[in-house]
Amino acid sequence: MAYKNLDEFHIDHDNQHTLNAVTTQDPSCPRCHPLEKQSAEFKQFLGWYRNRQAVKTFSQRSVEIFDRYLDSLNKQRDQDSHLTKDQVKALGEQARFIVKSFRYTGRPSTRSAELGFYITKLAEATGFSPRRLHEPTYQAKILEWE
Ligand SMILES: [Zn+2]
Repeated sequence: MAYKNLDEFHIDHDNQHTLNAVTTQDPSCPRCHPLEKQSAEFKQFLGWYRNRQAVKTFSQRSVEIFDRYLDSLNKQRDQDSHLTKDQVKALGEQARFIVKSFRYTGRPSTRSAELGFYITKLAEATGFSPRRLHEPTYQAKILEWE
């Protein structure tokens, strides 16, 4: 089944629960992935994210996906080089996945400029070279993805 948007996917998934026949994997579903614990970083991110997007709900998977993203960033922090275009692209894909692991009232924004902004904010939450992230070359790089 093809879905027009994220909402449609979530509605279909909820219907599967009602019918007691769950066939799709939905990382945002709190029934499949009940919330257990949230990292301090996640809570910090959530406080900020709620101001940007109309978050309705999320799951333990959302927390895990976010924590994995921070892990990737922290690994890159050990290297003293700029992020390559490929690394930025990979982080962008992960950021997109974070966005998709939440449920919203209305349509979430996944525009590349927005995602670039998330990445910067997420990186700041980890203390990842904030100075470097504000450099114009880096900013230009994150805006390049499509
Ligand atoms: Zn579910």
